[in-house]
Amino acid sequence: MSGTLKDIIARTREKVPALGLTMNGQKLVYLDNAATTQKPKQVLDFIQKALTENNANVHRSMYELSDRATTAYEAARKKVCEFINAPSVENIIFTSGTTASINLVADTFCRSLSIGDVILIEADSHHSNIVPWQLAAQRVGAIIKVIPTDIFCGRGKSGRLVVEEVEKLLTDRVKILALTHISNITGLHNPVKEIISVARAKKIPVLVDGAQGVVHSKVDVQAMDCDFYAFSAHKIYGATGVGVLYGKKELLEQLPPYMGGGDMVETVSYEKTTYASLPLKFEAGTPNFIGAASLTPALEFAEYLFSGDVGETLKAEEQKITQYMLDILLRDNDVELYGTPETQNMGKSPIFTFNIKGINAGDIAQLLDKMGIAVRSGMMCAEPLLNSFGATSALRASFAPYNTMEEAEYFVSCLNRARKMLS
Ligand code: PLP
Repeated sequence: MSGTLKDIIARTREKVPALGLTMNGQKLVYLDNAATTQKPKQVLDFIQKALTENNANVHRSMYELSDRATTAYEAARKKVCEFINAPSVENIIFTSGTTASINLVADTFCRSLSIGDVILIEADSHHSNIVPWQLAAQRVGAIIKVIPTDIFCGRGKSGRLVVEEVEKLLTDRVKILALTHISNITGLHNPVKEIISVARAKKIPVLVDGAQGVVHSKVDVQAMDCDFYAFSAHKIYGATGVGVLYGKKELLEQLPPYMGGGDMVETVSYEKTTYASLPLKFEAGTPNFIGAASLTPALEFAEYLFSGDVGETLKAEEQKITQYMLDILLRDNDVELYGTPETQNMGKSPIFTFNIKGINAGDIAQLLDKMGIAVRSGMMCAEPLLNSFGATSALRASFAPYNTMEEAEYFVSCLNRARKMLS
C-alpha cells in the first residue's frame, strides 16, 4: 500500500468508530454495507448534540429551541437538494426510508389508474420496488409487467437488465415505470438515463429506486430526468428511519396527500381540510427531525469520500478491490456469482452475491462471523431475482469506500477456511 493510500485509508477509517470494533475476539471486518453503512463520528456527534441542545418539535413553535431544530431540519433538506442537484427544496420530501418513499408514490400515483393499466417494474428489483406496486395495482385492477434480466429471457446469465426489451414493453397502457438504479444483488448499474429518455418520449413517468445508486454514484436528478428518486439515509452514512423522496414539482402537486395529520395541513375544519404546500403536504406528523437533520453531516461525509484526492484514491482502491473479488470469484468453478459485468464499461459496484456449490450460504456466514466478518446471507429482499438464478439463498459481501484490500484478502482466505470446514 503506498504512503498516501495508507494514510488516506487510515484517516478515513478513524472517522468511523465502529470499524475499530472487535467481534468474537477478532477485528471486525464489516462487509454488509449494502444493508446499512457504519456511521462516521461527525454524524454520531451531530445526533448527540442535537438531542442535547436542539431537541424540540419542528415547524410548530415560536421559541428558540424549536427554531434551532427547524433550522437544522430544513438545512438538511437544502443539503439533500444540492447533493442530488434537485431544482428546489420543494422537491425534497423526508420519509422514513426508500421503502416509505416508494410506497408513497405507488399509493398516491396509482389511485388514478384503471383496470388493465400497466405498472412496469424491473426483474432485479428489491422487494420495496415490487410489493408497493402490487398493493397499489390490486386496489385498482392494474397489471404488473416486468423488464427481464438476461436470466429470465435466456439471453445470458450475467444478471444484466435487458434494456433492448424496454421500448417494446413501454406500451400505451403503461402508466408508470419503476426502475432500480443499482441492484442490491448484482451491484450492476442500470442505464437509467437511457431508459428514462425512452419513457420520456412516451410521456410515462419514472421512479428510480436509488437506495444503492445514491451511495455508489454521483446522482444528478435533473440530468437523469427521473420523475421520482428514492433513497435511505442509513445506507449513506446517516441515521436509520429517514428517507428521501425527490419528485418533480408538477407531479408532486398533482398527487393527493399520502398520510393525514399534523404539519401537512393549511386549514382544518371538521368538514374540510386544505393542505400545506410542498414539501410539507407529504410530511404528516412529527418527522424523525434529528435523524433527518443528520443527513447534513452524513452527506458531507459522502462528499469527503467521493471528492478531491481522497475521492480519487478511494475510488481507485475500490476498483482494485472489485477486480480482485471478480477475479477470485469468477475463476472458481464451485462459485456461482450473481451479477457479472459483460464489458469493462458496464458499471459494477463492489457488491458480490454468490453461492458455493453444495454449501449453505447461512452456514458460511455463521462461520465467517466467528472470524470477525459480517456478511449477509439469505434472500437480500430480492426473492424473484435470486430464484431466477436458481438460488433460494445466497451470500453477499458488500464493500464501502472505508473497506480495504487487506479486508478483501482476509475475506477470501476466511471463505476458503469456512469451505474446508463445511465440505
Ligand atoms: N431498494 C434497494 C435497491 C435496497 O438495496 C434497499 C435496501 O436494502 C431498499 C430498496 C430498501 O431500503 P430501506 O429498507 O432502507 O427502505
